[in-house]
Amino acid sequence: MHAPAFDYDAVTRDMPEARVARGENYAAKGWASMVDCSPSGVLAHVLGEQGIAYVVEVGARDASDARCTCKDFADTGLRCKHVVATVRTVLDADPETLADVADRLPRLLDMLEMEERDDADLLIERARRDPALLRELEGEAAED
Ligand SMILES: [Zn+2]
Repeated sequence: MHAPAFDYDAVTRDMPEARVARGENYAAKGWASMVDCSPSGVLAHVLGEQGIAYVVEVGARDASDARCTCKDFADTGLRCKHVVATVRTVLDADPETLADVADRLPRLLDMLEMEERDDADLLIERARRDPALLRELEGEAAED
C-alpha cells in the first residue's frame, strides 16, 4: 500500500476555480510525473506551461502540507495548480502504478551502484529536487 490518502476536497477548498481547472488539465495531460510516494505523501515533478518542471511535495497529513517551487507558490504560499495536478494524478493512479513509483528511486539507485558510482546516494538525493538531473540519470540507466 503506497497511496497517500489525499482529501481532494480539502486540497482544493478556497482555491480559485480556474486554478483548480488548470491543475486538472495538467493532470489529464500527464504533466505530473510522480517521483516518490508513500502513505505519508508524494513527491512529483510537474511540467509547467514554459516547459519548466517544478518540484512538488504534498503530505497526506493535512491539506496545508504542500510545497511547490513555482513562483506562484513562492509569492503567495498558497496551493497552486501543480499541487492540484499532483494530487489528482495520485488519486487516479492504480495500485500497480503507485507501487512502481515507490520503487522508482530505489531502482535508479541500484543501477547507479551497479555502475559503481560512489556518489549514487548523493545523486539520488539531488535528483529528487532536480527534474533535469533525474531525467538524465534515468536516461543513462536506460541506455545500458
Ligand atoms: Zn506550483
